Amino acid sequence: MTELAEELLGWFQENGRKNLPWQSEPPNIYHVWLSEIMLQQTQVSTVIDYFNNFIANFPDIVALANADEDAVLASWAGLGYYSRARNLHKSSKIILTTHNGVFPTNYSDLLALPGIGKSTAGAVLSLACNQSLPILDGNVKRVLARYHKVSGHYSSSRVIKELWGFAKQHTPKVQNSSYTQAIMDLGATVCTVRKPSCTKCPISRHCEAKLCNEQERYPTKKIKMIKPEKSAAFLVFLNERGDVYLEKRPNKGIWGGLWSLVECNDNDIEIGAMIKKHNIGATITRSLSSFRHSFSHYNLWVRPVVVSSPGGVNGYYQVKGLSLGLPVPTKKILLALDSVNKP
Ligand code: SF4
Repeated sequence: MTELAEELLGWFQENGRKNLPWQSEPPNIYHVWLSEIMLQQTQVSTVIDYFNNFIANFPDIVALANADEDAVLASWAGLGYYSRARNLHKSSKIILTTHNGVFPTNYSDLLALPGIGKSTAGAVLSLACNQSLPILDGNVKRVLARYHKVSGHYSSSRVIKELWGFAKQHTPKVQNSSYTQAIMDLGATVCTVRKPSCTKCPISRHCEAKLCNEQERYPTKKIKMIKPEKSAAFLVFLNERGDVYLEKRPNKGIWGGLWSLVECNDNDIEIGAMIKKHNIGATITRSLSSFRHSFSHYNLWVRPVVVSSPGGVNGYYQVKGLSLGLPVPTKKILLALDSVNKP
C-alpha cells in the first residue's frame, strides 16, 4: 500500500464522512449510484435534499424503471445537467430488462450503462462492493495534481492519463471502499479548491506542492474566458382561465426533456411572428422585468413577455400545483407572474 493510501485510511477513521444519506451498512448500490450521478458537477450540500426527495419518489430501481420520464425530470428539476436524469432513467430500464432488476456489480456491465464513465463505475463498485477500482473525480484530480505536482490543465489528455496512472498506483487492494470515500472527503473538506488546509492534511508530509509551498499553483488553472451574453424572449401565453402554455423541450440541447415557456429570439418581429403562429388572436399584454440566467459557457438575458391567448386549450396548464419538471427561468417567471397577480 502506498504511503498516501495508508495515511488517508488512518485519517478516515476519525475524520471521514460516514453519515451521508446514501451511506448505509451494508451499502445500498442503488443509493450509491444515484448519489454518484447527482454529485457529478454538484456539491454534497446541494445534493442531500434532492437525493432524499428522489429516493422518496423512486425507492428502488424497479420503481425508477417504471416511472414516467416527466416524473423523473420533475424530481431532478433545479439540479441541472438533465441528461444525467434521462440517463439514470434509461439505465434503470436496461437493468430491469437485461439484469432482471438487479443492479450489476461487474465493471464492464456498469460501463455499458448510459451516463457511467470509468470514474463513476469505479466509485460505485468501490463504495458499494469494496472492489479495488480507482476513481478520478474532480476532488481526486485536485488532490493528486497537488500531491504529485502534475502540470497542465485537465483538458489535456496527457494530464488525465498521468492522473489516472497515479490514481491506479494509490488504489489499495484492501479497504478500498474506505480509501475511495477518504480521498473524496479529503478533496471536499481539506484539499479544497481555494486555500487548502495543509496543516490539517494527513498526506502533507509527502505532498510535492506543499513541500514547495506551491499549493495554489496546482492544479493548473484554465485561462478564464469572458462569457458571451445572449438574450431570448420567453412568451407566457395565458388563456382566459389564467392557465399557461408549456411545451416539452427536445431531449437534445439545454433543459432537454423539461417543460418550458415558448422561447424565441428577443426581437419584436420574431416575437410577433411566434405569437401569431401559436394563436392568431393572441396579443401582448405586458412585459415582466428581464433577468440574467447563467450557464457554464454563456449568460442568457431572459425577457418574459405576457400574452393573452383567447381560446387556448391544448398544452395549457394550471400553474398552481404544477408537477412538471421546469427549467429554472420558466419557474422564476411563473413565480413572478403569481406574485404580480396576487391582490
Ligand atoms: S498538503 Fe495541502 S495541497 Fe497537499 S494534498 Fe494536503 S491539503 Fe492538498
